[in-house]
Amino acid sequence: MHTDPADYVRSTIRSVPDWPKPGIIFRDITPVLQDPRSFRVLVDLFVYRYMRHRLDLVAGIDARGFILGSVLAYELNLGFVPVRKKGKLPFRTVAEEYTLEYGNASVEMHTDSVRPGQRVLLIDDLIATGGTMVAASKLLQRLGANVIEAAAIIDLPYLGGSEALKATGLPLYTVCSFDSEAP
Ligand code: AMP
Repeated sequence: MHTDPADYVRSTIRSVPDWPKPGIIFRDITPVLQDPRSFRVLVDLFVYRYMRHRLDLVAGIDARGFILGSVLAYELNLGFVPVRKKGKLPFRTVAEEYTLEYGNASVEMHTDSVRPGQRVLLIDDLIATGGTMVAASKLLQRLGANVIEAAAIIDLPYLGGSEALKATGLPLYTVCSFDSEAP
């Protein structure tokens, strides 16, 4: 490979203007997953970063965080736990609400998904306002988890989420970032 691995992954992300609504540029990771080389480069970036972190679990956020998080957990010989949208989990749950542009949303986990003190990596595809990741990390901490780091493929720094997350004291690793304009 002649390009930097992170640049290569970034070059395979598709930017879709005005989706799901006018003014939003959706950063679509499906081409990253579809291209075997890009998918492997991406997973390897995370594997090399986290192989010495002595983690116990990877917690992936619904739904694109499941794809990356479960592959990473498998590669690192760790368990995987889902952080789900409201109403999807069948057993006893705990929820954390957060505010969206319009209205509220919440994330849920099973009460027995983490044991106190377990070292957890939190992962999603993208951090925008940071609302989802901050809520998920609060939920993990309520369950007694030691959240070691949050990780995402893409940061949209102009929305302030990465700064807000770091301000809570949680380190954040992202592979690449995009400004408010395409590409
Ligand atoms: P937020 O809670 O604002 O940080 O939003 C993060 C969640 O929304 C992630 O699960 C993303 O998958 C999704 N998301 C928000 N904005 C975008 C965007 N521009 N492109 C793709 N996904 C997005």
